[in-house]
Amino acid sequence: MRSVRIIGAGLAGSEAAWQCARRGVRVDLFEMRPVRRTPAHQTAEFAELVCSNSLKSGSENTAPWLLKQEMRRAGSLLLGIARETSVPAGHALAVDRVEFSKRVTDAIAREPLITVRREEATAIEDGEITVIATGPLTSDALSTEIQRLSSSSSAEGGSALDFSRAGIPAPHNLYFYDSISPIVEADSINTDRVYMAARYDQGSADYINCPMSREEYDAFYDALVAAQSVEEKEWEKLNYFEGCLPIEEIARRGRDTLRFGPMKPVGLKDPRTGRMPYAVVQLRQENLRADSYNLVGFQNHLKFGEQARVLRMIPGLENARFLRYGQIHRNTYINAPALLIATLQMKQHPRTLFAGQICGVEGYVESIATGLMAGLHAATLAVGGEPVPPPRATAFGSLIHYITQADAKNFQPANITFDLLPALETRIRDRQERHRRQCQLALREFDGWLGRLQDIPIPPPAEVPA
Ligand SMILES: Cc1cc2nc3c(=O)[nH]c(=O)nc-3n(C[C@H](O)[C@H](O)[C@H](O)COP(=O)(O)OP(=O)(O)OC[C@H]3O[C@@H](n4cnc5c(N)ncnc54)[C@H](O)[C@@H]3O)c2cc1C
Repeated sequence: MRSVRIIGAGLAGSEAAWQCARRGVRVDLFEMRPVRRTPAHQTAEFAELVCSNSLKSGSENTAPWLLKQEMRRAGSLLLGIARETSVPAGHALAVDRVEFSKRVTDAIAREPLITVRREEATAIEDGEITVIATGPLTSDALSTEIQRLSSSSSAEGGSALDFSRAGIPAPHNLYFYDSISPIVEADSINTDRVYMAARYDQGSADYINCPMSREEYDAFYDALVAAQSVEEKEWEKLNYFEGCLPIEEIARRGRDTLRFGPMKPVGLKDPRTGRMPYAVVQLRQENLRADSYNLVGFQNHLKFGEQARVLRMIPGLENARFLRYGQIHRNTYINAPALLIATLQMKQHPRTLFAGQICGVEGYVESIATGLMAGLHAATLAVGGEPVPPPRATAFGSLIHYITQADAKNFQPANITFDLLPALETRIRDRQERHRRQCQLALREFDGWLGRLQDIPIPPPAEVPA
């Protein structure tokens, strides 16, 4: 049996390593932190969540729920740990980020088949089975190596990767910018001015809500659009991911856009007045101790001093102490439709697989999911088997179908949504019912596929540790 090299012990790489090891396959897991840092990670732990602490909706029959259901059925280590370290967050699955990555690191360290190598990987050996899971902040040396490897494979879609960070020009559609939201200390929030509530009173009232009157909103809006951003570098033309726009960018699209986005007040009646405020800023618990909260949807790239000044205009945050300010980072990803097949293997180099954000998905859950899938396929290759992709009707199958079949000339990473799933054969007008049926079908197909995997000559998966 061959061993597998996994590069990057982030969300995708940690899950991939675990999936290989639990199938009896030896893994060399390369992680460059703390020897070499990234601009966003703050610790040396594996699977560090760099921004929000949310692993998206846990509400039944939503697309993120479906993907998580499939991941649970496939025995995801990281989802198991997410459940153990979850913090109250209404319908969302949010975790204590410190405890989460600590437990992932411990689980990987305890696994005898995984050898952790704290070093930067800079070369990819074509003969070795390798999973590249180095994320949006892949080191420059490895980026150059990926470029070399993919230059023979990317005939369909121009350059395979964006390298402007390394000074090499590239088309603008192969990167975007992600931003992170600020975190404040809980005891610096003025509790007299805020209230706990769940939108439409559905679920538990886990969010702190900072209500704004029209006058407060107008003053905040004017200060926000006038505030100074971190300067752009000359060669950078900021190209944001639409799903994660900085608040100042949303604000520039119109005076009311924030009120229909991250500051939406609907369903958040203030119990003290019985009325819905003009706008609301929501704060979500960061950790199990509940001593810090993040400003939901407030990712931004204003200068730190400007952030402190503008965000303290939010009622309840007048004296806020910031544990982390919003920041912005480049996100690097390959041109997956030109380079990958449905098993996440490279077309031209089938022993090389990609997983996580770098393979063209967006988001924590999607990164873990592709890590799980790449780990499974790599383990199959290691025992001489032929990887089989999950069915198209599943959330896994749809996500991977998108990244491998989208238009290579204009490829944009994606989150899991119902848009990616195939339409049902019968037309159902009611949206909820349609989604319920799509989920039902997807899970049935996924279970069938998992069952058929048992035919592949690898030992049955072990239980995820409690
Ligand atoms: C600033 C920022 C904020 C984000 N915020 C969110 C968010 O709020 N919610 C969300 O769902 N998604 C967010 N994302 C997107 C994405 O979900 C995360 O980046 C996620 O961590 C991606 O998982 P990954 O496993 O692909 O990469 P990572 O978790 O980043 O893991 C990659 C690992 O590879 C290591 N590495 C890199 N190069 C090498 C090398 N050459 N050798 C060895 N190791 C290497 C890195 O140190 C890192 O540990 C954000 C991304 C960025 C950049």
